[in-house]
Amino acid sequence: SKSAGRNCFTIYDEAMSAELEARNTLEGDLRDAIARCQLEVHYQPFMDANNGARRGFEALVRWRHPARGLIPPDQFIALAEETGLIVPLGEFVLRRACADAATWPSGLMVAVNLSPIQFKEADLFDVICAALRDSGLAPHRLEIEITESVLLERGAENHAFMERLKHLGIELALDDFGTGYSSLSYLTAFPFDKIKIDKSFIRNLTHQPRSSAIISSIVTLARGLDMSVTAEGVETSEEYERLKALGINFAQGYLFGRPQPVGQIDLDEPVQSSQ
Ligand code: C2E
Ligand code: CA
Ligand code: CA
Ligand code: CA
Repeated sequence: SKSAGRNCFTIYDEAMSAELEARNTLEGDLRDAIARCQLEVHYQPFMDANNGARRGFEALVRWRHPARGLIPPDQFIALAEETGLIVPLGEFVLRRACADAATWPSGLMVAVNLSPIQFKEADLFDVICAALRDSGLAPHRLEIEITESVLLERGAENHAFMERLKHLGIELALDDFGTGYSSLSYLTAFPFDKIKIDKSFIRNLTHQPRSSAIISSIVTLARGLDMSVTAEGVETSEEYERLKALGINFAQGYLFGRPQPVGQIDLDEPVQSSQ
């Protein structure tokens, strides 16, 4: 009936405005969180698969919300990107990660995720240089992880930007490989040092022979392009053994450690000797 229809719309509107309100609250909270330093950077190790030694840590942001506790990035990164808050958030993570890594043994690297939105900021290069300078971290100890969406938009500009980073000695990793509009031509056209195979491929590894085939082709391709390969989301030693047999260079996942606050990292563990 008509009235039921109208009710339906009313409910729909209310649901919409409730959602909008929740979003606005979250946006305001996130703005405050950045200003009040409620963001934390946690670190997850990645290992050199050749010798089993720890090679470095990936910096992963968390939000210590006064009422809601620790909020994972999947719940606020998209909002931060839509609102532009990713720019100050990303700078905070970069500066924090460089400052923390500068206190670690010099064989350890730090990997920082950069959003495609940050790539549109004209001063990103200066922001990165300032983070390195202020922390004293050697550029070759910083790795920047970007997803392939950076390559789709503004390809030529981003390519030039990546070359400038490489020139400084910064390492570049292509994150979440295999999940987006991956085209192999991107790999040849952009100066990546490393490909990170998305964890969805690792998850299927022991059940789906196809995943092994995909991973081994990525390894072959990467070798031909003089790039190394990281497997993310390694949870079991079976997966790790299989991945080593397939020729991956680095491994990251719960098997080796979860993301942890900087104070909880055990820095006394053996570190790979830098050659
Ligand atoms: P990502 O860059 O692909 O990071 C890896 C994610 O996989 C992390 O989730 C990590 O905790 C999780 N992970 C690691 N090992 C395992 C495993 O063995 N099994 C499973 N199931 N998961 C594992 P997290 O910390 O929740 O981060 C989610 C995403 O949020 C990241 O995915 C990244 O895209 C984004 N993110 C996190 N920190 C930042 C940041 O500072 N800046 C930007 N732009 N994005 C960030
Ligand atoms: Ca990443
Ligand atoms: Ca990833
Ligand atoms: Ca991701």
